[in-house]
Amino acid sequence: MGSELSGLQIFKYLPAAKKLADANCKKCGCPTCMAFALKLAKKQTEIEKCPSASDELRCLIEEAVKVKQHEYTIGVENPVKTGGETVMFRHDKTFVNRTVFAVLLESSDVDFDKKLRRIKNFEIERIGETFKIDAIHLKDTGEFLSAAEKVKKAGFVLIAESDDTEALSSLKEENPLIITNKAENFKDNLVAVTADDIDSLEAASKEKIKNGYKKIVLNPVLKNIADTIEALTYIRRMAIIDKFEPMTFPVMVKIPSEKNLGKTTALAALLICRYANIIVFEDFDEAMMAALLTLRQNIFTNPERPLQVESKVYEFNEPDRNSPVILTTNFALTYFAVANELESLPFGSYLVVTPSDGMSVLTAWSADKFTADIAAKTVKKFNLEEKVNRKAIIIPGLLSHMKEELEQALVGWDIIVGTIEACEIPDFIKSLNYIKS
Ligand code: SF4
Repeated sequence: MGSELSGLQIFKYLPAAKKLADANCKKCGCPTCMAFALKLAKKQTEIEKCPSASDELRCLIEEAVKVKQHEYTIGVENPVKTGGETVMFRHDKTFVNRTVFAVLLESSDVDFDKKLRRIKNFEIERIGETFKIDAIHLKDTGEFLSAAEKVKKAGFVLIAESDDTEALSSLKEENPLIITNKAENFKDNLVAVTADDIDSLEAASKEKIKNGYKKIVLNPVLKNIADTIEALTYIRRMAIIDKFEPMTFPVMVKIPSEKNLGKTTALAALLICRYANIIVFEDFDEAMMAALLTLRQNIFTNPERPLQVESKVYEFNEPDRNSPVILTTNFALTYFAVANELESLPFGSYLVVTPSDGMSVLTAWSADKFTADIAAKTVKKFNLEEKVNRKAIIIPGLLSHMKEELEQALVGWDIIVGTIEACEIPDFIKSLNYIKS
């Protein structure tokens, strides 16, 4: 057993803190009560090992280990995780599992193959990650199993909606999320609990728990945006703050087809932020998905860990000995902004990326994560002098005040102060006479 309590919080309840006779008795296998508390906080021992632990402490730990939101895996070949959230707000810690994006298809749709192909062909790349649609919500309107097979072959996770228990049973190995009116046959599988108001949803969830269902996804089908956001906020609050078991499950929301894609995009954006674990889209549009996947990436980035790229020399357009050398930090957004511009040049270039803990240029400089010494070591480490004839390095315009310092650290190299904005890089480099264009 472990807990989310700190060692000190636990210690306050142990005999040593209360100056009781059995303090530090070592019966738990630890030399002191403090050592035991620290171990317990790290989940390396169990409360049962201390015979003197009070009921108050046992209750506290019991409460602390209750799950806030269950985490499930859907699919087998390209599985996605859903749920597992632990905070109400991203800035409190981080959101854990990205909202699953699913597109609804009807199994007997005459354009099924065409629609599936279009969804399969869609992908975007952003800050070093490639994103696609995660899942297909397949609604049984006939020819269900052959359509499910196509979904599997296309590499999507399956959300299977059908009342054909035989067909659903044959899909169990795909580890789908099941939506059915005959859920009693799938108590060991991940099933959706559907209701059209929050009280009914809570009651249905309680009933499922009582009847031994192992894995649940809550599926509120609500009338309008305001009701939906209110319900999802309520569910998340009941899960995270109150650990109220019937609400401690991932939540899926279906966005109905809408002529105005801007409205769908706005609603989905709201749902990504608050608090849909799975969104099912009835509409599929590449531009809409690209915008929403970008938002999703931002929301689910861990604010405690800046996005960063590896510190190394990146090569663009087959550079040679006459190519320019550009220097920047390893903050992912900085890297990709510069990299995009270098890719657009009609000649090759080298981009030297310093190890700067994922900080942007000025932040790294002010935190001593980008110093002349670090820059010099990086240039030496990657043998830049052997790659180019002309020893010149273009530094970010924001670091113009470091020119002299860098010249002293990088003996024999010219330091050229570059541009402040990445978009100005191509014209700036082209303007440097010594570089062939
Ligand atoms: Fe302290 Fe309990 Fe361990 Fe004894 S058994 S040392 S009282 S934590």
